[in-house]
Amino acid sequence: MTTIPTLTLNNAVTMPALGFGVFQTPPDETVAAVRSALEVGYRHIDTAAAYGNEREVGRALAESGVPREDVFVETKVWITDYGYDSTLHAFDKSAGKLGVDVIDLLILHQALPSRFDLTIDAYRALERLLADGRVRAIGVSNFMPDHLADLLAASTVVPAVNQVEVHPYFRQSEVLAADAEHGIVSQAWSPIGGITFYREAGHTSTLQDPTIGAIAAAHDRTPAQVMLRWHLQQGRSAIPKSVTPARIAENFAVTDFELTSDQLAAIDALDTGRRGGPDPSVITLEAFGREIPEA
Ligand code: NDP
Repeated sequence: MTTIPTLTLNNAVTMPALGFGVFQTPPDETVAAVRSALEVGYRHIDTAAAYGNEREVGRALAESGVPREDVFVETKVWITDYGYDSTLHAFDKSAGKLGVDVIDLLILHQALPSRFDLTIDAYRALERLLADGRVRAIGVSNFMPDHLADLLAASTVVPAVNQVEVHPYFRQSEVLAADAEHGIVSQAWSPIGGITFYREAGHTSTLQDPTIGAIAAAHDRTPAQVMLRWHLQQGRSAIPKSVTPARIAENFAVTDFELTSDQLAAIDALDTGRRGGPDPSVITLEAFGREIPEA
């Protein structure tokens, strides 16, 4: 079975660099998708309270027969649950649905720029959970360099991970640089550019990109595999999503070829500077708040 390289987080916990995402995977398809991923060899699953499928991720883990300690389970606290006590309770909700005692990586899903006080209180709750051994690592998602600076000024534990939109059409070099400067692992969401397929972003899909296509042909690989290889060779974690068993396997088969430095640079050069997802600076409770059900 393929072994995926691991990344060592800033608190010495190791994390498989390649994980399996389940955003927009309907609950009734999640058990099969996660089972399929675990069968192929993924040992890192990325979900979120806001995805509404933590229970099904937990069911797949339990039914798979893979020992709990062999799978790195990552989930996210939604903004509605920010605040010290609310975030402590968000852990109970997520752990309850996932059916685990300990969450490997718990991250804040978004910065909440208009209520950064709540964001900091939420992060303090993560620090408490870490100190109590309820989570093995803590981190953030969609934090821009200014959000990171404000968080670092108000907290003790440097986030282990910042999960942000990174794909060949939107590389966010300044975020990657800020993460690196602070010893934070950058984790790519929409790593093969999924957001470029299902949102109108003024350009074609990364899967149809001629530069990526030519590199894929040169290695007898697929565009998705080339993009995942690009992330791994640049030291990022990547969490591709699929509900399609053949693609789940394809996205995992990325350890036995190597892109050249010219090929990596050619992919870097595809950056359009245009994000596909929402601008992290406009996330507000009013526009994006929604209740996360109890476990
Ligand atoms: P991805 O880049 O993973 O792309 C997913 C899309 O690509 C799906 O439509 C999937 O289709 C398709 N696909 C997957 N593999 C292949 C392949 N080999 N060839 C062709 N098509 C393929 O985008 P996502 O936006 O889903 O991001 C991945 C994960 O990142 C999410 O699941 C989630 O865990 C995380 N995420 C986090 C966010 C955050 O704010 N923190 C925001 C967005 C995502 P199909 O499933 O039909 O096979």
